[in-house]
Parts: sequence; C-alpha cells; structure tokens
Amino acid sequence: MTSPPRNVVLCLSGHDPSGGAGVQADIEAIAAQDAHAVSVITAQTVQDSRNVLRVVATPFALLSEQLETLLRDVKPAAIKVGLLADPAQPALIARLARQCAVPVVVDPVLRAGGGTDLATAEALAALKSDLLPATTLLTPNAAEARRMTGLESAADCAAALLALGCANVLITGGDEPGESVVNHWYGAKGTASVHRSHSWPRLPGPFHGAGCTLAAAIAGLLARGEAMDQAIADGQAYTQRALAQAFAPGVGRKIPKRL
Ligand code: PLP
Repeated sequence: MTSPPRNVVLCLSGHDPSGGAGVQADIEAIAAQDAHAVSVITAQTVQDSRNVLRVVATPFALLSEQLETLLRDVKPAAIKVGLLADPAQPALIARLARQCAVPVVVDPVLRAGGGTDLATAEALAALKSDLLPATTLLTPNAAEARRMTGLESAADCAAALLALGCANVLITGGDEPGESVVNHWYGAKGTASVHRSHSWPRLPGPFHGAGCTLAAAIAGLLARGEAMDQAIADGQAYTQRALAQAFAPGVGRKIPKRL
C-alpha cells in the first residue's frame, strides 16, 4: 500500500552554510508545518552567522534542468522563492509557477542582516517585472519594501507592490525600531481589499534567517490548505515561537529554533 502524499512545497532558495537562512531555513520551517520541502538551489553563498561575503548564482541551464526534471515528477501544493541571484531566474520561475497553478510565496532577499547587498539592480528589476505578476504573497521587510518602490510608508509601498501584480503583501517590521514588531498584511479577501496589522513583542536579537523562516512557514501552511489570512497569522505565531528559542551556532547572530 502506498502512503498518502504529503503536501509538498517547492523551494527555490540560496544555500547558507551557517544553516540560519536560505534553503535550510525553508526545509526546517516547512517540515515544522508537517509539509515536505523539495528544493532547487538558486545560488551558493560564502557566509557565516555574521554576514554574507559572496553570492554565486547556479548556472541557468542547470537550474532549468533541475526544475523541469523535478516538476515532471512532483506536483507541489505551494512554491516558496527566496534569493534570486541572476536576472534570468525570475522569468523562469514565473513560467513554471503559472504551470503549477499553486500559491507562490516570494521573500525578496535584497540585503543580508550583516549588511551585504544580495541583489543587483538587474535582478531586482527582473523580480519586479517578471515574478511579481505571478506572486500570491510577497514578504519584504520594511527596508526591502522601500527599496523596491522608492516610497516610505507601509501603505504606500504595499499599494505600489500590489500595482505591480502580486496578490498580497506582508511587510514585516523586524528591522524597524520600537518595542513591538508590527507586520502589515495588505491584500484581498474575496473581492474586498484587506489591511490587517499583527503586533508581536520584540525579542532580543539580532537574528539571522527570520524572514526565510516566516515565508517558508506560510508556504507550508498554504500547501496544507490553510486560507491566506490563517496562514499569515499562524506563520507569524510559529516564527515568534522559533525566535523565542533562538540559538547561536557561531559567534554571530542567533538563528530560529525551527524544529
Ligand atoms: N543568505 C541566504 C541564502 C538568504 O536566503 C538570506 C535571507 O533570506 C540571507 C543570507 C540573509 O539572511 P538575514 O538577512 O536573515 O541575515
């Protein structure tokens, strides 16, 4: 007898050797939602728990072959996209995501917590023009939302990002000052537009991999069939618990305890 299929999330992410962010964060956060991650690595990075030193994109032909081969076999129930290191990657991912016709969660990875810029201007432009129209939920932090739009307030940034074609935006406030972390979801529930704020006590950081953890957890919950509002709420609660038990694998930032 064959066992029933587990809800599968396709992750397209960079590899972080410190295990804090990228594909390892995705696999752990998705497993914690009782879903199964399949993964194609978009880039290798040279980094430790403090900062990223170098990013090397996966050769496009290899990435394409891995994806086409995997998707002939496995049918994901959601897709999670992280670091995109090459301007050709967003269009390829958007084309395959449209074929899969499942929710697509995109975490725009523009700058490492340690300060290194992770996205070239060309890769950012391609993300906006090619992938946002195929995106169900975009999860920038406040600084990433500002960089993507050139605007200041969360409401203005969200309006501009929705106008580029994504269906929902969750702007996270972990990088903003204040005693609470306030995350803003802008999107649509049925035909009505939605703005909902979620406020969390700020935990002592700094953290590495919090954004990947949140986006991957939401993708796992969507793959399990949760509605967007529930997945956004439950994904944040899970991430807050993982951050409350964070630990330091080295001398740098703490990483969430996802499992
Ligand atoms: N490296 C990879 C592969 C990532 O995907 C990310 C973030 O998503 C980072 C590094 C930076 O993570 P953080 O900003 O949490 O330090």
